[in-house]
Amino acid sequence: MIKAAPKNSIWHTALHNFEQTAKRLKLEPEFKMKIQGPREMIETQLNPIISHNKLIQVTAFIVRHNYALGPAKGGIRMTPDVTIDDIAGLAMEMTWKTALIDVPFGGGKSGIRFDPKSVTIEDKEIIIRAFTRAMHRHIGPEIYVPAPDMGTTQSDMGHIRDCISYSEGTAITRGCYVTGKPVIVGGIVGRTEATGRGVVHTIIAACEKLNLDINDLTVAVQGFGNVGSVAALEIAKRGAKVIAISELAGTLYNPQGINVPALAEHIEKGGSTADFPHAEKIEHHALFELDCDILIPAAAQSQITAENAPKIKAKIIAEGANAPTTPDADEIINQKNIFVIPDILCNAGGVFVSYLEYTQETQREQWTLEEVNQRLAKRMTQRFLDVYQNARENQLTIRNAAMNIAVDRVAQATIARGLLP
Ligand code: NAD
Repeated sequence: MIKAAPKNSIWHTALHNFEQTAKRLKLEPEFKMKIQGPREMIETQLNPIISHNKLIQVTAFIVRHNYALGPAKGGIRMTPDVTIDDIAGLAMEMTWKTALIDVPFGGGKSGIRFDPKSVTIEDKEIIIRAFTRAMHRHIGPEIYVPAPDMGTTQSDMGHIRDCISYSEGTAITRGCYVTGKPVIVGGIVGRTEATGRGVVHTIIAACEKLNLDINDLTVAVQGFGNVGSVAALEIAKRGAKVIAISELAGTLYNPQGINVPALAEHIEKGGSTADFPHAEKIEHHALFELDCDILIPAAAQSQITAENAPKIKAKIIAEGANAPTTPDADEIINQKNIFVIPDILCNAGGVFVSYLEYTQETQREQWTLEEVNQRLAKRMTQRFLDVYQNARENQLTIRNAAMNIAVDRVAQATIARGLLP
């Protein structure tokens, strides 16, 4: 089971946010415990044989945090240091995110403790297939439906689907076992970009409420992976000036605005932020201290801490990453009146379009990019406005209003299903 949550860990942040919400909603202690704890935590050892006949050992996890509203939904994180506690925290976040964005899913997450950059793509496929075979009975349209997260991509989801249909002796899977697949094998158009696009829809809606013109605003983005790159490209397209972008390889700064499509092309061709010529290189930590209007943490958890929060000058923080802000930092940010669009709202576009992929596959439909993008824009904007109104009516931060709505929905579903097994 989960050990005591280390300070600033994802589990610590998730638990803190839930505890505060349970107090506001006055949940009974026993009922609170029922919603708080993960329903199921699976840990297994994989022993795939990779190139040069090398037998390796890889630890993998699946956590199904809650399924009151439907099958658990949440991505697969593949990083060298991921822990079961991290996965539990992320699974809990997914429970609130799916409830808030109003899709019929619960919350889950997987972890594969391995550095995907340390092996060839062929060896990564072997590891992904070993994970799928070992976890087959815990994955399925009515149980847990994974998707990409840090360190995993669309192609990995294609391999998962293939591995399952292969072992069942079918050409396709019976229903949707995994989302974020390549479009050619049952994926949905626009899924890869959905999280980053959704981040920008919530920022635009926030700017309208705060009377800010996007064309006048400067932006700093931490992370240039799936979420960060799309968010940077989309917000630049909308007229904002992206002045700083970081990835692990280095942090770029250009007060005149970074040419984001040129950077994306540079990285596509094998370059990195470290060798992109059209911007100054600054220290990683300096990104948070820049004079900018919008800060988008879209890299990893616990990046905004009590140390750097006092130095943040942005008017809006849009949490593209999961749990990027520690509870201590959140308090500082609230005192500074920075407008925070919390992760469970801000980055919910990915899981919303995963839901469209799930229904498309179940009903054998084919959606166009225009339909997907329209539904994404409508849902993200509407949910932002619902949370904003709730926050105003109840004098809450946007994070607290979002958590209240989400936890209350899960509580209602739990009661509606009945408390007996
Ligand atoms: P990714 O692996 O595609 O990209 C991560 C990026 O962050 C890379 O550019 C990496 O270099 C950078 N990075 C990591 N640590 C950093 C650091 N300390 N400083 C600067 N850059 C750093 O991952 P992703 O899928 O874009 O996910 C990013 C975050 O968004 C994660 O918290 C993930 O859980 C969350 N998220 C992802 C999705 C999705 O659909 N992919 C959906 C919701 C939330």
